[in-house]
Amino acid sequence: MTGTALPTINPATGCVDAPVLRERGQREVFCGLTGIVWLHRKMQDAFFLVVGSRTCAHLIQSAAGVMIFAEPRFATAILGDRDLAGMADCNEELDRVVRELLARRPDISTLFLVGSCPSEVIKLDLGRAAERLGGEYAGRVRILNYSGSGIETTFTQGEDACLKALVPVLPEAPATQESVLVCGTLADVVEDQFGRLFAELGIPVQFFPPRRATQLPSIGSGTKLLLAQPFLNETTRALQSCGATLLAAPYPLGVEGTTAWLRAAAEAFGIAPERFASAIAAPAQRARTAVARYRSTLEGKRLFFFPDSQLEIPLARFLARELGVELLEVGTPYLDRALVAAELPLVPATQLAEGQDVEKQLDRCLAARPDLTICGLGLANPLEAEGLRTKWSIELVFSPIQGFDQAGDLAELFARPLQRIARLKV
Ligand code: SF4
Repeated sequence: MTGTALPTINPATGCVDAPVLRERGQREVFCGLTGIVWLHRKMQDAFFLVVGSRTCAHLIQSAAGVMIFAEPRFATAILGDRDLAGMADCNEELDRVVRELLARRPDISTLFLVGSCPSEVIKLDLGRAAERLGGEYAGRVRILNYSGSGIETTFTQGEDACLKALVPVLPEAPATQESVLVCGTLADVVEDQFGRLFAELGIPVQFFPPRRATQLPSIGSGTKLLLAQPFLNETTRALQSCGATLLAAPYPLGVEGTTAWLRAAAEAFGIAPERFASAIAAPAQRARTAVARYRSTLEGKRLFFFPDSQLEIPLARFLARELGVELLEVGTPYLDRALVAAELPLVPATQLAEGQDVEKQLDRCLAARPDLTICGLGLANPLEAEGLRTKWSIELVFSPIQGFDQAGDLAELFARPLQRIARLKV
């Protein structure tokens, strides 16, 4: 094993005061363009135009798959060699591509110009392009921009950048209008389940991003922000600057997380504890039963998280507390304490790591020989070749995992690789 000596851990305080191993080195993560995969499915009248290279086009095409039966809602305006050499006027080219696209696709109500490494390298100003084109299409198409570039980012930051770009165009809510704003992309089925629970509790709720980019939630001093995803640092700050108050809560993963998440909203709206208990009783019980099915597979298993999706800390809390796993190391690309303030006390003391130096982390993982390693796609095959079982962290972002009715499926995602190996041994 090479590298830094590991800090000591105080088992009494969970991970609140746990020293964090900070690493800055080579990283193995996807870039923010990946977010287009789930964002385009969520906002059904939005279009994502990546301004990038053939590599960028290949990435989103292979991650999102080819849409055969539907009109696609993402594309890449490819910067060719002449553009990259600064010989062509990229702005004129971009305007032409956008005009052709919008002439052909009257169904597009919001167009995101998505920056990439190549567009940033040649300093193509997509903010100005969005302003210029937005003026031309005012009243018909809203044109916004954000960066999905892979320089110094991880893949879930694409959603953060996209939602932050929408914040300035959110309508203002009157100060008297109180509501919960659930922030972070949720599968429609999960959004519907939460919508029903909030209705039963009598709490007005809005979801951001919405299913239609034209139906944006309103925001003001009566807005209580409830994060559904732990990677929305910039969006959270932008919403707070519009007057929203962040509710401190764990994330809605597992029975405990979902209960505490809903309770934070119920308490903010003064809902009686009995009414809250009665509203969640049946789904929480269903979830407990579903999760319990996987406890025997996961209990006592040693898990190692590489930093990838930024979901690592809430997932580690769920797996340790509801399924009895032992955490060897929990890596996260960024540790924003404000956004995981309610999670850290619940995570049993373990080694936290922020950032990545992939070779050193691989050394630690191979030395520890975990039963299951949660990592990016690029690391899974080499680790499997070393005889370790792996789980792709990106799958956890693409799958509906939040809420009571998904808690069993979430546990199953971790149990499956272990059950598969157990079957192979028989
Ligand atoms: S944005 Fe950068 S990291 Fe992402 S696919 Fe394009 S070139 Fe690669």
